Amino acid sequence: MSRRPVQQHRQAIAVLLADIGGPERMRVSEALGSVLLEPARAATPLPVFDNSQMDGFAVRAADVSPGVALPVVARIYAGSPAAPLAPGTTTAIMTGAPIPAGANAVIPVEESDEQPVADGTVVTFTTVPQVGTFVRRAGSDAQAGELIVEAGTALAPHHLGALAAAGVTDVVVYRRPRVAVISTGSELVAPGLPLAPGQIHESNSVALAALVSANGGAVISQAVAGDGDGEFAARLDEAVAAGADLVLTSGGVSAGEREPVRDLLSGPDSGATESWFGAVAMQPGGPQGLSRWRAVPVISLPGNPVSVLVSFDVLVRDAVRAIGGLAPVPVERGRLTTGVASSPPGKTQYLRARRCDGTDGRVEIIGGPSSHLIATAARADVLVEIDAAATELAPDTEVPLWPLTH
Ligand code: AMP
Ligand code: MG
Repeated sequence: MSRRPVQQHRQAIAVLLADIGGPERMRVSEALGSVLLEPARAATPLPVFDNSQMDGFAVRAADVSPGVALPVVARIYAGSPAAPLAPGTTTAIMTGAPIPAGANAVIPVEESDEQPVADGTVVTFTTVPQVGTFVRRAGSDAQAGELIVEAGTALAPHHLGALAAAGVTDVVVYRRPRVAVISTGSELVAPGLPLAPGQIHESNSVALAALVSANGGAVISQAVAGDGDGEFAARLDEAVAAGADLVLTSGGVSAGEREPVRDLLSGPDSGATESWFGAVAMQPGGPQGLSRWRAVPVISLPGNPVSVLVSFDVLVRDAVRAIGGLAPVPVERGRLTTGVASSPPGKTQYLRARRCDGTDGRVEIIGGPSSHLIATAARADVLVEIDAAATELAPDTEVPLWPLTH
């Protein structure tokens, strides 16, 4: 049987997804994790106006000398305007309140002594300020129009806070791909429900939804289709009707009986287009499929839970990331602590492994190669790639490492 090389299938997925995405205008308050497509600039200066950094007294610095009492002519609170300050007077001022025109310094309340007099209060100071002391100057953090966040940045909370402060309400980001996930299999039961004989807990849609979200996609639906006639087609039509840009399926693509995904999407009269179903030269993850259903790209992964993890990270991850403006996850290199006694010829193998602490990039292979070992996979953090031509590896061999999505 001729198998498609991993790289060729990876490329075919990238081509299938190439039309998805584009710019989208989004509220800053909803943009956490989205990637800026256009640079974001301040709408206002920051600070917006000269304001006080302390609770204290706004003064002309030249009016202050030890023991000289200044009349307190006003009290300025945050959120209120300030009248100009007449020479030889002062105002009480709170943190964030505007500096009155004419004042050029603030003396903290801790360095003052305010006393009542017949017509109000006067204040003396224990310090003589420099011009500018405790005055937060308008525009000293950012000028209006100044770049706040560069294009290409994945928006984190500190970016959103800065943009909101600078009066920015909307940003232009890479639109996240809207992804529908469909698991197939009549044996599948939602996690937590009791299992009748022959049933198992459905886990692939949980993992796939998380893989999509962690790589910049928006999961719009998660469904399970039994293997019975018409069930998968119905779920697929629902995903398309819900506006999916992309459908990810699991299971039902291998060579057995009752393979609903393969049967529907590879059939010549099914209505699917650009359909390819076959074997990719990889282990796990051999059976794979690509197609379009009502013009929407469908990527069909095999059903074994570890195959799903490996297939997504190796074949699909970077294509999904690109739509949302995220850079590919770099493949690293490391050395094996032990050898690999046998690896299937003609297939690129991806073994689960864990980075060893303090050993300079060494990794330890965890568990066997079988694609049902999902609990064992939970202890891994990387995939070790073993070249299709290699059938065994000596200890200390340098290998490519694919970080698992985390
Ligand atoms: P399939 O590719 O449909 O033949 O499934 C291969 C193996 O993966 C079978 O043992 C299935 O029971 C298992 N499997 C398929 N889909 C899921 C799923 N969504 N969650 C957990 N196990 C699954
Ligand atoms: Mg199945």
